[in-house]
Amino acid sequence: MAENAILYDASKCSACKGCQVQCKQWNMMPSGLGKDENEFTGSYQSMPDLNGDTRLLIEFHEEAAGDGIQWAFSRRACFHCTEPTCMEVCPVGAISQLDDGTVKLDNTKCVGCKYCTAACPFEVPKYRENFNVSNKCTLCDDRVAQGREPACVKTCPAAALSFGPRDEVLAAGKARVEELRTAGYDKAELYGETEMGGMHSLFVAQYGLEAHGLVRDPKRPDAVALFSLIKPLAGLGVAAVVGGLGLSFLTGIGYDRDELTAESASAYDAAKEEK
Ligand code: SF4
Ligand code: SF4
Ligand code: SF4
Repeated sequence: MAENAILYDASKCSACKGCQVQCKQWNMMPSGLGKDENEFTGSYQSMPDLNGDTRLLIEFHEEAAGDGIQWAFSRRACFHCTEPTCMEVCPVGAISQLDDGTVKLDNTKCVGCKYCTAACPFEVPKYRENFNVSNKCTLCDDRVAQGREPACVKTCPAAALSFGPRDEVLAAGKARVEELRTAGYDKAELYGETEMGGMHSLFVAQYGLEAHGLVRDPKRPDAVALFSLIKPLAGLGVAAVVGGLGLSFLTGIGYDRDELTAESASAYDAAKEEK
């Protein structure tokens, strides 16, 4: 099967957040946003970061420019790396790579250990407390299997998102960067061609990687080697051994490995079936 990819073009994005909302709607993820629920902090960004119920966040990177503000928008979600360190460390095989490059997290297998979060150079997977699982973008593999586009792509009114064979998406991204440079955006760059072995979510960074909050030259976190060593133990549920190894940093990332309860798994399955 040919590899697929999403292309996000920040130069076309209007930050309407339609993709963010549609991701929640399709995947049945609740929103914590309610009337007067959140204090206005001076930014139009919905929340500080991804969370257990939010797989996609449009970020507002703001800089003063003359009398106004220059916004560099950013699409924060899983990049679907060709070398996914999250998958390497998962002790129960809940993360897999599909033939088209999608990195899928199966919430029916996940035990909520949070190893994937610590092993991801971008800290993308987030803990979903009510279900004791980690959560992240699955590149809408359920829709793609039916010949549909990912929900976020389908929704974008500004055509800032596109989806298709990775080689075509890559060529389109490179062409767009050239257009932008010709138009005077000389810092424009494409992100994802080679990072982490090549990503399946590419990004046209109009103002350069840093302006959009992207990690230049992402590296495998040191935790990956350690987690790979101890994952057979964790797979057997020997959390006490992990504690015995003196891995105090695990508590630093909120380590709390309980067994996935049958109730939460059933509730999640039922919610998905009602979709
Ligand atoms: S961005 Fe992080 S969570 Fe997504 S595939 Fe890469 S390592 Fe895994
Ligand atoms: S591909 Fe699907 S799961 Fe991923 S951000 Fe888009 S809508 Fe959400
Ligand atoms: S729907 Fe399109 S224009 Fe709106 S925030 Fe998402 S990517 Fe940007």
